[in-house]
Amino acid sequence: MNVPLLDLKAQYNSIKDEINAAVAEVFESQHFILGPEVEYCERAIAAYSECSHAVGVSSGSDALLICLMAENIGPGDEVITTPYTFFATAGAIARLGATPVFVDIDPISYNIDAAKIATKINHRTRAIIPVHLYGQMCDMDAVASLARNHGLIVIEDAAQAIGAERNGRRAGSIGSYGCFSFFPSKNLGAAGDAGMVVTNDSERADKLRVLRAHGSKPKYHHKIIGGNFRLDALQAAIVSVKLSHLDDWTAARQHNAKRYDQLFSEAGLPVSVPAVIAERHIFNQYVVRVQQRDELQEWLKKEGVGTEVYYPVPMHLQECFAYLGYHAGAFPETERAAKETLALPIYPELKQSQSNFVVECISKFFENGNITRSDVVIQNSKSTV
Ligand SMILES: *Cc1c(COP(=O)(O)O)cnc(C)c1O
Repeated sequence: MNVPLLDLKAQYNSIKDEINAAVAEVFESQHFILGPEVEYCERAIAAYSECSHAVGVSSGSDALLICLMAENIGPGDEVITTPYTFFATAGAIARLGATPVFVDIDPISYNIDAAKIATKINHRTRAIIPVHLYGQMCDMDAVASLARNHGLIVIEDAAQAIGAERNGRRAGSIGSYGCFSFFPSKNLGAAGDAGMVVTNDSERADKLRVLRAHGSKPKYHHKIIGGNFRLDALQAAIVSVKLSHLDDWTAARQHNAKRYDQLFSEAGLPVSVPAVIAERHIFNQYVVRVQQRDELQEWLKKEGVGTEVYYPVPMHLQECFAYLGYHAGAFPETERAAKETLALPIYPELKQSQSNFVVECISKFFENGNITRSDVVIQNSKSTV
């Protein structure tokens, strides 16, 4: 049996006619830059994420960048974030000449440990970028209250968390800004690069619209310097079609996660399953923790099971950030997670026989003598909540 990490062809086959019709409509209109498709998509995403405004942009990375630009964050400024994320989060800060300041993660949720943020706040701190990793929101109550007390901007990196909820609030709707990515492997994926920023502040939304078009307002007059950060009409049309299926896909991902949880618990393997802390985890990834991670990944590859390591090199140990002066050991939980976590196939179209097969293969791995200490099983014991 072959079980890929993600099967985008299966998804496309299930909605082919709708996608093709939407794409054909854009071709008929020959309206490719901004326009009605983008505006429709923006209204739909704003409503879905319970925000008053949404601004379509070229990618999730540019979404983060443009929010920092809108706040004039640059050299001399510090922005607090997690070292356990996709590069774009820290990259956006550094590209503007500001300094990323990292805070270790909580080992249960893999999200930034809000209790450790306060000691990193000083007179240079301008913003916090919490990341809702794997589709589960951070402790935003704690982050928002720190930000309020210190007058900081919060930019939620919700690239992996569209539709996620915690304490009754949707991802992206709590901070000054929320950033989404429609990269094809995200839960709501375009047919290429695309992204969106949501906000409840109309002045901020206006500024983002100006910034995404080279800072031009009125046309050919530039009071500020922006860039070309626009969302394509074709991508917007595709995202709008897919949005109407997103809740079904999320339910399927959650169902698949529950099945894995149950199969792992029945098999009694030294594998710790994801802890569900927030009330709506959208499972962009189903990430398990296991001590012989690299050996298990190799084993699964031979069996035909696709997996991925998100992320093998923490941000503070990236070569390009050596100038920040961090060393191995600075963030023990992040470094341990980078060595022990493995994402398993969780996509909505995954069949029962396929998830059974994945767990059977993992059982065989351990039966073959690859038994490790089982203390990691207990460590993520919140998983049954
Ligand atoms: C995917 C992702 C991004 C970047 O989004 P792109 O659309 O690929 O530019 C940023 N942050 C996180 C956490 C991501 O997962």
